Amino acid sequence: MEYGGHVAISDLVRVQTCPVRFYYERNDPFTESDRYMICKQLSYHLGSSLEPEMIWDEVLSVCPGIDPELRSFLETCIASCNNTVWKPAAQSDVRVISEKHGIVGMVDRIFDNGAFSIIRAVGAIPFGTFAADRLRVAGIAFCLEEMIGNEVIGGHVEYIPDGVSRFHTVQPRDRRQVLATLHKIREIRKGELPRHPLNAPCNRCRYKERCEISSGRRLSDLL
Ligand code: SF4
Repeated sequence: MEYGGHVAISDLVRVQTCPVRFYYERNDPFTESDRYMICKQLSYHLGSSLEPEMIWDEVLSVCPGIDPELRSFLETCIASCNNTVWKPAAQSDVRVISEKHGIVGMVDRIFDNGAFSIIRAVGAIPFGTFAADRLRVAGIAFCLEEMIGNEVIGGHVEYIPDGVSRFHTVQPRDRRQVLATLHKIREIRKGELPRHPLNAPCNRCRYKERCEISSGRRLSDLL
């Protein structure tokens, strides 16, 4: 998605996962998953009492057609989150931008001390954070550094279904990854079909057949 020529941080993540898939889906409308929507709604209450009835009512207001079965997912998230002490947000949904790098994004929660967090609707891995989340944190750090004029050392990733918050310290390799991914997106925007990456998640991908035909080889031969 383009925002006045800027690259959305969510697109950095999509391109990192697979630039070919990003190319195929470049004109598709963005849709938020129901699970993300539930985690997001819950996140507005982190740092205060998590009332299932009230949060579910809010979820229904945001998405009246949501599957009622997902109420149990909300209950599970609340039970997990109640095992952790959360900081309340000073601000939520703050748009951040880097003119220098041409990136734009949204920070889910910013705290009184200037730290920030992003909300994830998936469980945490045993240690650390997912590669996609490290890219998200680095993209936000680029933006915030330009906006506040100070180095941003990292950010929290809040894995709501597990009630886990992890701090990721931005590493030089994360910053390199952002720059390399931006370069790929610019090539795609110029109309170049990206190369099929060797480490793409092809086995779970609905474009597998299309890619096998367009690459002229079976991807399974490459992997
Ligand atoms: S099949 Fe593999 S290369 Fe093709 S779009 Fe899917 S993940 Fe990407």
